[in-house]
Amino acid sequence: MRDPRYDVLFTPIKIGPVTAKNRFYQVPHCNGMGHAMPLAHAAMRETKAEGGWAVVSTEECEIHPSGDLTPYVEARLWDDRDIPALALMCDKVHAHGALAALELTHNGPTASNLYSREVLIAPSPQPTKYGYPHQAREMTLHDIREYRRWHREAAIRGKRAGMDIIYVYAAHDLSLAMHFLQRRRNQRSDAYGGPLENRVRLLREVLEDTKEAVGDTCAVALRFATEEGLGPGGVELAEAQDIVGMLAELPDLWDVNLAAWYNDSVPSRFATEGAQEPFIAFVKKTTTKPVVGVGRFTSPDTMVSQIKRGVLDMIGCARPSIADPFLPRKIEEGRIDDIRECIGCNICVTGDMTISPIRCTQNPTMGEEWRKGWHPERIAPKHSDCRVLVVGAGPAGLEAARALGQRGYAVTMVDARKEPGGRVARESRLPGLAEWARVRDWRVGQINKLANIAVYLDSALSAQDVLDFGAEHVVLATGCNWRRDGYGRSNGFDIPGFAGNPRVFTPDDLMDGRLPQGRVAVFDDDGYYHASVAAELLRRHGCEVAHLTPEDSLAPWTLNTLDYRHVRERMAELGIEAMVSHAIVGYVGNTLTVEDVWTHRRRELVCDAVVTVTARLPDDALYREMKQHEAEWADAGIRSLRCIGDAEAPGLIAHAVYAGHRYARELEGPFASNVPFRRHFHTAS
Ligand code: ADP
Ligand code: SF4
Repeated sequence: MRDPRYDVLFTPIKIGPVTAKNRFYQVPHCNGMGHAMPLAHAAMRETKAEGGWAVVSTEECEIHPSGDLTPYVEARLWDDRDIPALALMCDKVHAHGALAALELTHNGPTASNLYSREVLIAPSPQPTKYGYPHQAREMTLHDIREYRRWHREAAIRGKRAGMDIIYVYAAHDLSLAMHFLQRRRNQRSDAYGGPLENRVRLLREVLEDTKEAVGDTCAVALRFATEEGLGPGGVELAEAQDIVGMLAELPDLWDVNLAAWYNDSVPSRFATEGAQEPFIAFVKKTTTKPVVGVGRFTSPDTMVSQIKRGVLDMIGCARPSIADPFLPRKIEEGRIDDIRECIGCNICVTGDMTISPIRCTQNPTMGEEWRKGWHPERIAPKHSDCRVLVVGAGPAGLEAARALGQRGYAVTMVDARKEPGGRVARESRLPGLAEWARVRDWRVGQINKLANIAVYLDSALSAQDVLDFGAEHVVLATGCNWRRDGYGRSNGFDIPGFAGNPRVFTPDDLMDGRLPQGRVAVFDDDGYYHASVAAELLRRHGCEVAHLTPEDSLAPWTLNTLDYRHVRERMAELGIEAMVSHAIVGYVGNTLTVEDVWTHRRRELVCDAVVTVTARLPDDALYREMKQHEAEWADAGIRSLRCIGDAEAPGLIAHAVYAGHRYARELEGPFASNVPFRRHFHTAS
């Protein structure tokens, strides 16, 4: 079954008073469900435990109303009434032989207190992190004692809930234990400020408190950021090395990473597997305690190498465990090519950022374990011997075909292009997006294993072809095209000079290999990744590029995926000019007229070409044609016809994969009621 090369990943390891059964460690990660949706949260964590992770952690867990993270929805242990929600998770995790870990935190000036309306506290007086127009006050010595008491009491509550590992959190620039370390946040002149020994004092005390309170049966882990990338105002590697030296043997486990979150969960466009190694490798040389670290690990060979080379003892994963909760089991069972590898798109992060349940591009069941009863590995068998025709082999069609095939349906998938993958195949050839091809590769690999799925490429189907084919169920996943006319969020009408202008290009042109030359304006009315990727492509191709948007900031939606800073830095490095708050009012010859959206002042720019990234149109011609022939469906044997994914409404790749999966799950019922998922309801107590 298992390749002996991977044996080391399955050796147990002692963490203080507890033992992890293997080296797979699901580190804490946000999920947008937290304390508000405890049943959904527990079911999601249970799936990880079932999938073989030895340790399954919560997300951040608030310990007190003065560290309230509203609107973000995290775990909560303010008092004893919060225990049952987390006990639920512990029971589910324990049922599969895994350990449950709890990440306690008080976020000080990086909290909001929008719900509790308490005054924020911090090492020194300072503004809040997220731009709320109120400040945090300096903690007195009494406050510090109170904070230690809250942390200690929360640790005891965690133990009572059944947690096996209790975290002290000093990472991501998100907790008081870290804020006291940071010179920019700690300007105190008492025993908790100034020299490093003083700034470390609180972290040491909280570690000691936690060990004393729960250390008899619980392991105490320290989550610690070794570098913030902010220079001397932040935690820097050299100082982090001193801190690890000072506290080396105090925690039972070191969980180390980079701060802030955008430097930890870096999108694959900007960092590869194992990218944190230069910043965390020193830790294992400094302590005898087990060390966990992350690096979007999906390759078992890389994991083994991390352990054999003495970088890590346990393989920490957040995103790889979201994309494939069964990753450890698949390695154990020798099913490496069944691993659904994370693509590093950070759509999972957007759940937390937009205060909605977690979702994942690769794993459409993520977040749906409880409310829809979806399991990442299991699906109900087919209801009949009906045949299904899937038109389009993009992410929607591929996932529909794969999941229908898993159900046992006889599936035929057809695509007009010579290669499968649709937009994923095309977009993955753009700069930085190569890993996105995993959306296609995993599905093609699974489809190839199923004898009941036939695939025909290079075959454009007409409505007559579909009618002649004679499948009982037809699903059209024919994708979409970028608009050329400038219509979008900011322009309710065509932009004058765009229609029929050979100087106007779309992302489709670029993906088809038609690139402009010279000075190019990339017009971004989309706000996500497409425009900056196009700008990067053209700059690398030798064009002089301006990135132009009517918004007040470039690519604002990328804040939700942690891309934003990296995009801005890359654009700056490449010398791509940023022009915000500007709309295009016309394009004649090589003269592009732009207008400042606030002053309405107009300027003329000399542009050899414009790449317009505004909106997309569904490629639903086949669907419309089929609807015109609806009277002939019955004779052709067609019982149902659906249009899904980008052909229904253009969106994220995650939307298309979800649409394909949902279609496959719901084909031939059972049919959901008005609200097609379970919800949490509050009782009066
Ligand atoms: P989605 O994101 O919804 O999966 P994509 O654009 O990625 O959509 O994929 C749509 C796929 O459908 C493309 O590969 C395209 O070649 C294919 N396609 C579109 N129209 C037809 C058709 N009439 N016959 C066969 N394949 C088609
Ligand atoms: Fe990975 Fe993207 Fe899924 Fe997050 S959403 S786990 S980054 S594939």
